[in-house]
Amino acid sequence: MKLFVEVDLEGVSGAVYGGYGLPKSKEGGRSELLMTLELNALVEGARAAGISKLQVCESHPFNKNCLIGGIDVVHEIEKIQDCDLLAFVGRHARAGLEKSVLSHTGSGRSVIDFRVNGKSFGELGIVAAYAGHFGVPAIFVSGDRAATEEAEDFIPNVTTVAVSEGLGNHSAICLAPQKAHKLIKAGIIRAIQNRRKVKPLVVKKPVTIEYELKYPAQADRFALVPGVTKKNDRTVTYTCKNFLEAYRTYLATSLALIWWDAKG
Ligand SMILES: [Zn+2]
Repeated sequence: MKLFVEVDLEGVSGAVYGGYGLPKSKEGGRSELLMTLELNALVEGARAAGISKLQVCESHPFNKNCLIGGIDVVHEIEKIQDCDLLAFVGRHARAGLEKSVLSHTGSGRSVIDFRVNGKSFGELGIVAAYAGHFGVPAIFVSGDRAATEEAEDFIPNVTTVAVSEGLGNHSAICLAPQKAHKLIKAGIIRAIQNRRKVKPLVVKKPVTIEYELKYPAQADRFALVPGVTKKNDRTVTYTCKNFLEAYRTYLATSLALIWWDAKG
């Protein structure tokens, strides 16, 4: 069995200050270590439960001195299609949820909301639906409490482990790392045992995506692309034939917005 692991940083226990992807972030190193150790715990559990091959997506830099051996590190989620199962570590909730630690959807400064067929989707839903397009179920999510609740809303029977409890966007009650690791390891074992109870997340076609943006200038620019419609001064919509196309559109636009963020 092959497992794909999508690792993010803002839902790791102890990561609360933010700005990690931006230049001059002081907190990066410490949180990257915590993220790497949570991933290691998941890998140990996955191996104990019979996973033979692991592909791990690095969206923030791992601490290479502490990273567990024998995994493939990839930088794009497209390899999900070669795997049987998907798991998330360090997952944060979507933009705009209350009591969610460092919640955002792609660009932290520019995206107010991202909707798919009218429903708000965060990074969790986007990646789970990308996997679902290829028939791969998302079986496990660890992250802050808001992210695990979001996962339960999207994916019936998913196994979740909350490693922190958000009090606000930049404050949380966090589990001690050893405790978080123990729960993650036990959680992924349970998730793999229960994998047949989880169905891939499939989004109905055609797929209409909608960006609610912070700045009208961004909506103006997006609306220059053929097929993009402006709903109001800050909201644009685009209809795709399936979720693969929707994901690719999200990826391209999200990167453009993240660069915009970094500039400002
Ligand atoms: Zn993220």
